[in-house]
Amino acid sequence: MNVTVMRQVKFCAGHRLLGHEGKCANFHGHNYVVQFHVNGKEIDELGRVVDFQVINKLFKGWIDEHWDHGFLLWSEDDNAIKALEQVEPNRIYRMPYNPTAENMARYLMYEIAPDLMSTVEGYDLQVTKVVVWETENSFAEVSVDNARAQADAMLEHAQRSRFE
Ligand SMILES: [Zn+2]
Repeated sequence: MNVTVMRQVKFCAGHRLLGHEGKCANFHGHNYVVQFHVNGKEIDELGRVVDFQVINKLFKGWIDEHWDHGFLLWSEDDNAIKALEQVEPNRIYRMPYNPTAENMARYLMYEIAPDLMSTVEGYDLQVTKVVVWETENSFAEVSVDNARAQADAMLEHAQRSRFE
C-alpha cells in the first residue's frame, strides 16, 4: 500500500532576499503556511498511516521553536544579521541560502524532515512533499516522486549530516 497524509502548519516570520532586484530586498514578513506530506507503506491497527497529533507535534514543534516570529536570513547576509543582532531579544535563523519559499521547502524537506521522521518509532514514514505558501497566491513545492529522487534526497541528507 501507498498512503499519504498531509499536515499543515501556519506561522509568521520575517525575511529579506539578499541581492533581490526589487522590494524583497527590504525587511518584510509573511504569514506562511507549510504543508507536510507524509507517506507510509502500511496503516496500523487503528487505520492510520500515523496519528495526526504525532506529526503535528513534530512539525509544528520544530517551526514554533525555530522559525515562528523569527527572521530567516541567508547566513552570508552579514549586513542584515548585524542589524538584527542589535535588537534585544532577537530570533535569527540562518539559512544556507536565500530564504525564498523554494529554499524553505527544500530546507524542510532535506534538512529537517528526515530527522523528525526518524524519531517516530514503529512507523516507516517519509516526507515526500513539502509545500510552502508565502502568500495566498503563491507557493513553492519540493517533492520526491520517484525512487531515484528519494535515493538522491537520502544521499544529500547523509552527506550534509556527515559534515555537521
Ligand atoms: Zn518575502
